[in-house]
Amino acid sequence: MKVDILAFGVHPDDVELGCSGTLIASVSKGKKVAVIDLTRGELGTRGSADTRKAEAANAAKVMGVHARENLEMADGFFQQDEVNLRKVIVAIRKYQPEIVLCNAPEDRHPDHGRSSKLVSDAAFFSGLVKIETSSNGVAQQAWRSKYVFHYIQDRYLKPDFVFDISDAFERKMKTVLCYTTQFNVAENDSEPQTYISNPDFMDVIRSRALMFGKRIGVRYAEGYITTKMIGITTFDAFIQQTT
Ligand SMILES: [Zn+2]
Repeated sequence: MKVDILAFGVHPDDVELGCSGTLIASVSKGKKVAVIDLTRGELGTRGSADTRKAEAANAAKVMGVHARENLEMADGFFQQDEVNLRKVIVAIRKYQPEIVLCNAPEDRHPDHGRSSKLVSDAAFFSGLVKIETSSNGVAQQAWRSKYVFHYIQDRYLKPDFVFDISDAFERKMKTVLCYTTQFNVAENDSEPQTYISNPDFMDVIRSRALMFGKRIGVRYAEGYITTKMIGITTFDAFIQQTT
């Protein structure tokens, strides 16, 4: 199945926190979108791999994405080796996205930076015809996506561009809240509180989106980093829609 956008996250919930507004807005404009989680998030302090799996499936429905897969790498311990590079290459060649979204190059969680490099390197290698891969026994064609963009998640990084998610923001918050074991949990909950489980963390997500939106004169936005120069053929793309 070919998609327009393929969004990778190392943990189920990274995509929701970092770029779900973009995905929701894109789906509403008729774009095809798929999500790939690299790990099951099994090292998370709260919940389990099974609860995360159910939560991720619910969030995929709220986002309206066309597919979501999990590559089952080892949370915390995955490395950039041939096995894992090939897993990502197979996924990219399967979905043939024009745009790849992935974790921030550096972040509070060390997995995010490693995932960022793994996915962006695999996106390059996916275009090399001499790397042979197959999916369900069928040989795959090489595929080079046009852009790899890194979504800004926890640590503040200066974005190269921001994506207007004003109309998608409340649904973005719903996708985050699908992770009932992770976010917005009561203080007297039986499992330990974490950096992200306090209800105040929801205000942090909203504040970040407000701040990025303010920079372009809209209500909410998500921020991205690109290492590849963006080229245009018309200034229309830079003219804000102010409906
Ligand atoms: Zn994460």
